[in-house]
Amino acid sequence: MNTFEKDSTYIAHAYGRLPVEFARASGSEVFGSDGKRYIDLGSGIAVNIFGHCDPVWTAAVEKQLHTFAHTSNYYYSAPQADLAERLCTRTGMARVFFSNSGAEANECAIKTARKYAFDKYGKGRSTIVTLTGSFHGRTMATLAATGQDAFHNYFFPFPEGFAYTPANDAEALKAALDGSVCALLLEMVQGEGGVNVLDRDFVQTAAALCAERDVLLLVDEVQTGNGRTGTLYAYEQFGVKPDILTTAKGLGGGLPIGATLLGGKTAGTLTPSSHGSTFGGNPVCAAGALSVIDRIDDALLAGVRRKGAYIREKLEKHPAVGSVSGMGLMLGIQTKKDAKAVCARALEKGLLVLTAKDKVRLLPALNIPDPLLEEGLEILQSILDE
Ligand SMILES: *Cc1c(COP(=O)(O)O)cnc(C)c1O
Repeated sequence: MNTFEKDSTYIAHAYGRLPVEFARASGSEVFGSDGKRYIDLGSGIAVNIFGHCDPVWTAAVEKQLHTFAHTSNYYYSAPQADLAERLCTRTGMARVFFSNSGAEANECAIKTARKYAFDKYGKGRSTIVTLTGSFHGRTMATLAATGQDAFHNYFFPFPEGFAYTPANDAEALKAALDGSVCALLLEMVQGEGGVNVLDRDFVQTAAALCAERDVLLLVDEVQTGNGRTGTLYAYEQFGVKPDILTTAKGLGGGLPIGATLLGGKTAGTLTPSSHGSTFGGNPVCAAGALSVIDRIDDALLAGVRRKGAYIREKLEKHPAVGSVSGMGLMLGIQTKKDAKAVCARALEKGLLVLTAKDKVRLLPALNIPDPLLEEGLEILQSILDE
């Protein structure tokens, strides 16, 4: 059996896979098992921040791999401590809990918010409010948190204590944040929901309401984080400060790691045995993440903003493009063509792009060289021309 046959025989059919088998990859280029070359504008869904097999990242990971690969969380390890210090120093948050994925980072945020309210107010203040169109993960609680009906199916019963309010509607939010609510969970740019940027005014009103009512502001930066939108974290561009920030995807640069950053209010909420993870903050993943965070500097972020603006300017002019949404190198392209068809056609023409609802979504590596980006955009334009 070849890989395609073996995969479809032995792997659960949970994904609608595209007909490409990766053979090797380097930077923003991928080579299929048939030798075909692809330009990668998806980065494994915002994961490969510095592209594939980046030499600096690979060296950092390899060094830790030869030092020790895993310890249980009953012991101390430098990569985890160094990464936590770096994340706190760069964001002003107080403490970090490490896990292995975005959903787990959000699970931790949900648990922490509920415990914070329980410790302070007792039972009855456990509701988490989220926005319609949001996406927060695939575990039971994060599915319940996801504000899209399509995700609330099959797996009943879902955990209780989630309520939804429309994005960018301050009045509705005001009503939703009643005395039963412990936290509001938001993405600054809804990724899976269609690359929808929240209104700055709405976000500021939300933060003010939360502060006034002691409702924790939880910002899900699993996709928007780690330089993706042109700042280290997207919230910085909205003039607010989260009580809890979650991130994953790009953080590990290609290895699984999730982080829940706790602000001053919740710095002491998680106590021994109240939460845990066997692999969370694994030293190899943490070493990779540390090298990622340390390379997200002003020059890289300026490049992200410049490239993002360039893509926008180029695509907005195209007659088949209705609009381009997003921030930095997280972009959604509304086209007259079917997004899935564009994605499939791109594959034929040697380009990897993603979709988000009815948009074509671009999440290139933050260090994608200009000529490769240009070549990728030419292919995309040629498809839109067809
Ligand atoms: C991808 C994503 C998640 C889930 O992350 P996993 O690592 O797949 O569990 C959660 N929130 C947002 C905003 C995401 O984009």
